[in-house]
Amino acid sequence: MQKVIIVGAGPAGLLLAHYLLARKRYQVEIYERRPDPQRVELSSQRTFPLSLHMRGLNAIRTIPGLEAALVKEGVWSGATLLHGKQGKARRIDRKLPLLLIDRNQLIRVLIQQLLKHYGEEALTIQFDCTCTDVDPDRRTVTLHEAEGEPFTASFDYLVGADGVRSPVRDALVARTAMQCEQSTVPDVYKSLFVRRVSPDHSSELAADCIHSWTIGRNMRVLMAPLPGDWLHGVMIFPHNKNPLEGLTSADAVRDFFQEKCPALAPLMMVEDAEALRLRPISKILTVTCDRMHVGDRILLIGDAIHAVSPSVGQGCNASLQDAQVFAQLLDQYQDDWSRALPEFTAQRLPEAHALRALSDYTFPRSKTMVLEFIFRLIVVKKLRRWFPQLGKPLPMELIMETELPYTQVLHQTQGWIDRVRQSILVQGLEPSTQAERMSSYPSSTSPRLGNDNAANS
Ligand SMILES: Cc1cc2nc3c(=O)[nH]c(=O)nc-3n(C[C@H](O)[C@H](O)[C@H](O)COP(=O)(O)OP(=O)(O)OC[C@H]3O[C@@H](n4cnc5c(N)ncnc54)[C@H](O)[C@@H]3O)c2cc1C
Repeated sequence: MQKVIIVGAGPAGLLLAHYLLARKRYQVEIYERRPDPQRVELSSQRTFPLSLHMRGLNAIRTIPGLEAALVKEGVWSGATLLHGKQGKARRIDRKLPLLLIDRNQLIRVLIQQLLKHYGEEALTIQFDCTCTDVDPDRRTVTLHEAEGEPFTASFDYLVGADGVRSPVRDALVARTAMQCEQSTVPDVYKSLFVRRVSPDHSSELAADCIHSWTIGRNMRVLMAPLPGDWLHGVMIFPHNKNPLEGLTSADAVRDFFQEKCPALAPLMMVEDAEALRLRPISKILTVTCDRMHVGDRILLIGDAIHAVSPSVGQGCNASLQDAQVFAQLLDQYQDDWSRALPEFTAQRLPEAHALRALSDYTFPRSKTMVLEFIFRLIVVKKLRRWFPQLGKPLPMELIMETELPYTQVLHQTQGWIDRVRQSILVQGLEPSTQAERMSSYPSSTSPRLGNDNAANS
């Protein structure tokens, strides 16, 4: 048995553990910084809803029983309702339904299913245990338990699945030729939780739709229904324009929602409004790297290596796909990691770079392009059923309704992506303005510095 250490029990690391253990030739040790989600009350954790599309769902389906277990904790959604200020809503139907699931529920189910199928001889998961360093030459990781002395663990293979702030990636950038760039997206968000039905049952929002409101320029509220008649969502706004700034009471927050989101306001109780007002603002970081493996023994997957803005809801889908693709390569190369790893980078890096461009430039920011976007999504999309020659689909349609690789989606919609990028440049909202370089990333290979790179790949 060869020992694989996975750092990070997020969606990517846990799904890869399922794939590796199913091969029956690896012993897997997972180290996770946070507490065991099975023992922590859901409400006390930072969480948000994830939408899983075909790409992520296909990666899950390959593991027997996993999809059925996840569906029990999620909600299928076939449409988005765009709510207006006057209370009217426009419905955008989706060809393929997506599964909405709370991030921590997804994690819980992935862990429960692992523990159900594999005993301690094959799998250990250590929570409250943070990785702080990696020595690729000695094949060791340094770990710190919440209470206790630091210790080292040795590995045959290492997987960095430790999210956007990945210490594994940082250690590899410091110690090897690997290069990465981290940027801050100009938008920030606050999480929002309300009941789906008002206490007196006089107001409710549809249980099978995502709900969306435009509350100002480049400001949106998105709410997803989840089991137990909850709506979990986010309020997204530019980092320097917090619409709740200056609101000093829960009533003021509710008045704001009454004006901007009248269909949502009756569901917002005083305690929900106060919690929203006091909740800290979350920043969104993105990561772009020049490879997804180091040497013959170290793999990086998920947000650790390709975190993107959540605007098109693909970060988790792509992270789950990483696990599936790597397992396919292990099949192809009979578990020879020295051949599977470079091939993984060759296949997945162009996908990661294309997803980055799609996530940054799918949603328009100028008023005219926003109007065009809505018109094309609602009117042109319907007309295209009878007149297929009517205009090209928008990136969002191809991302949501096909299983095309991200590189092909980008290639087919490059015109739109270039226009959005241009309008963002004009407004000075380009994410690169806030780039924090972790290590110099050659501009000739950076997808953000030249979209053509991703489109051509
Ligand atoms: C508001 C919001 C909405 C989103 N919506 C969607 C969506 O609808 N659809 C979608 O596909 N994606 C969405 N995403 C993106 C999605 O959440 C991520 O892409 C996905 O969680 C990445 O999975 P991961 O396993 O790579 O990383 P993570 O989920 O970040 O998991 C990494 C794990 O590693 C652990 N860790 C970190 N450092 C250490 C350490 N030093 N030692 C040990 N453990 C460590 C962390 O605690 C964490 O559990 C959204 C993101 C946000 C912020």
